[in-house]
Amino acid sequence: STPVATFCALTNAATSGLLIKGGDYLEILGKTKIVAFDKTGTITRGEFFVTNFQSLRDDIGLNTLLYWVSSIESKSSHPMAAALVDYGRSRSIEPKPEIVEEFHNFPGEGIHGKLEGNDIYIGNKKIAARASCEIVPTLEGYAKEGKTVGYIYSGGNPVGIFTLSDACRSGVIEAINELKSLGIKTAMLTGDSHAAAMQTHGQLGQALEVVRAELLPEDKVKIIKGFKKEGTTAMVGDGINDAPALAIADIGISMGISGSALATETGHVILLSNDIRKIPKAIRLSRRTIRKVV
Ligand code: ADP
Ligand code: MG
Repeated sequence: STPVATFCALTNAATSGLLIKGGDYLEILGKTKIVAFDKTGTITRGEFFVTNFQSLRDDIGLNTLLYWVSSIESKSSHPMAAALVDYGRSRSIEPKPEIVEEFHNFPGEGIHGKLEGNDIYIGNKKIAARASCEIVPTLEGYAKEGKTVGYIYSGGNPVGIFTLSDACRSGVIEAINELKSLGIKTAMLTGDSHAAAMQTHGQLGQALEVVRAELLPEDKVKIIKGFKKEGTTAMVGDGINDAPALAIADIGISMGISGSALATETGHVILLSNDIRKIPKAIRLSRRTIRKVV
């Protein structure tokens, strides 16, 4: 496209809340054949609320467990962490991040912290292996409702379980349908369980063509690499764990407001308003701009 057309297009996009880091990305956007979305914080609002929190041990009271969990989660920036801290506060439990030692984040799995002499792991069933723990099959029933399930492990045993809910962002169905009408394939890639992914898929009226769940950040990278063989691929994400997939995609689009600083730095395009509908709009804009040269 002409430099003037490109400049105008970039400026127009920026005023509507879409920051495109250069004319090259504007051009690639118009050639997009596949758009892959992260789930938590991208398709969904990432504003979880706790719907159930239980101790599985008679010798560990609910408030003690919640105190441990909220203290460790207060050191995490995952959207689930804020919900657990809030849930604790609603029961007058104030987190104490300063008493947590050896905090560690396992992207796509959960977190670890040492507290009052106990090694505690909080996350999905993948983190069970790190806690040297067997997955208890009876607990998996909770996942069937399609809620996001969290497990708490300590001393080689599951000691607690909780469920959380999150809602889809407004405009997502519209955006996906519009991408479809532009001849673009859509996919959802998530670290959450299959059941939770299918629940979100259902909420979207099954508009998404591809759903892949229980993915680690490196699995997302592999899938994006596969998509790139089919055609120009955009990846939309918000989390630290999405940064590698955003970087490997032809176009990385990061959520601007809720997104982590790392995702925002990695993205080639930043959705300042967090409005997914801006993506098909940007693709149309790009196609129009490219056409101006020919
Ligand atoms: P998505 O790919 O949908 O954005 P994430 O990769 O952010 O999901 O997270 C994947 C899963 O890892 C979550 O569903 C959760 O089970 C687990 N997890 C990650 N961080 C935490 C945390 N701080 N506390 C508990 N669980 C976590
Ligand atoms: Mg996410």
